Amino acid sequence: MTNQPSTPPESGLSSHHAAVLTGPGQFEQVQRQGQLLLPGEVRIAVRTVGVCGSDIHMYQDGRIGTTEILSPLVLGHEFMGVVVEAAEGTLDGDDRPLKVGDRVAVEPHVACGHCRECREGHPNLCTHHTFMGVYPRDGALQSFLNAPAHNCFVLPDGVTDIGGAMLEPLGVALHALRLGHVTVGDTAAVVGAGPIGLLLVSLLKLAGVTALHVTEPLDWRREQATALGATSVEVGVTPGHDSLYDVVFEAGWADTSVQDAALLARPGARVVLVGIPGDDRMEVQHSLARRKGLSLIFSRRMAHTYPQAIRLVAGGQIDVDALVSDVYGLGDVDLAFRRHAEYQPGVLKVVVTLPEVP
Ligand SMILES: [Zn+2]
Ligand SMILES: [Zn+2]
Repeated sequence: MTNQPSTPPESGLSSHHAAVLTGPGQFEQVQRQGQLLLPGEVRIAVRTVGVCGSDIHMYQDGRIGTTEILSPLVLGHEFMGVVVEAAEGTLDGDDRPLKVGDRVAVEPHVACGHCRECREGHPNLCTHHTFMGVYPRDGALQSFLNAPAHNCFVLPDGVTDIGGAMLEPLGVALHALRLGHVTVGDTAAVVGAGPIGLLLVSLLKLAGVTALHVTEPLDWRREQATALGATSVEVGVTPGHDSLYDVVFEAGWADTSVQDAALLARPGARVVLVGIPGDDRMEVQHSLARRKGLSLIFSRRMAHTYPQAIRLVAGGQIDVDALVSDVYGLGDVDLAFRRHAEYQPGVLKVVVTLPEVP
């Protein structure tokens, strides 16, 4: 679905242009110098960048969780682009040859690769990581970006440019789904039908759940949840839906989200927390969660999701493009962020596109 306002990418931007967050609610459009490639890196001409709820936290408050932005920062961690510089023999994150001209999606999380968490297969839990678009590492709202080759994944023709940027949120949803250990025949609920919640709805449908309940205050998002296969949708938790679901995903993080998830959960259920609270707090009635013996599972980013996410999109099993409601050019990045931050009617996923490099 595509709603207004929607503007095509503007032309005439110089070859290295960046939208820099210089303070809460404040972007500055600047020209910058490219950086030399480090060993193992490739240079990417950025084409498409998704705006995420976590970007909105940083845009509005200048921080996310306990991470404060201490100097001007380029946001943007959901993105794809075209490789413009790569050494001979470079391989992508799926061990395929990576060469100039390839369209790639880029996993924004750069793990150290050496710590115990990395060695044991949990790079998403690496404590020595950086993350593109989270202070202090610049993200993708700029013409060019250098990234480790193994963070890049070559895109097949079946994945559009916009679809390539959507692989990051799809990976977040996929990681949460894995943590929920959903099996065929389970009943499931999703609290919050933003992009991650809606991607979870699509994945849960594929996973073979028999009931799929969604709570969401915004009517156009409830409609989208129904269109994607939710069997029931409500504004919030209502009598008749409490204590019914084997697995519940919290993907909104309004003030009552975790409590709502606990109410919807059956005794013994798994409750997976995906949303990020703006105020770094969580509220849930202890006696409710304890008496039900709930397993509360915190989902941290994603690990090893890109190859699977690419296959799901390229094979037509998940339609990520359908979740994009708005497309803006880089010069209109403040409009794009406001559209998302103010939950203007019809907004689902906002995407920023950059002009093609000649
Ligand atoms: Zn994100
Ligand atoms: Zn590590």
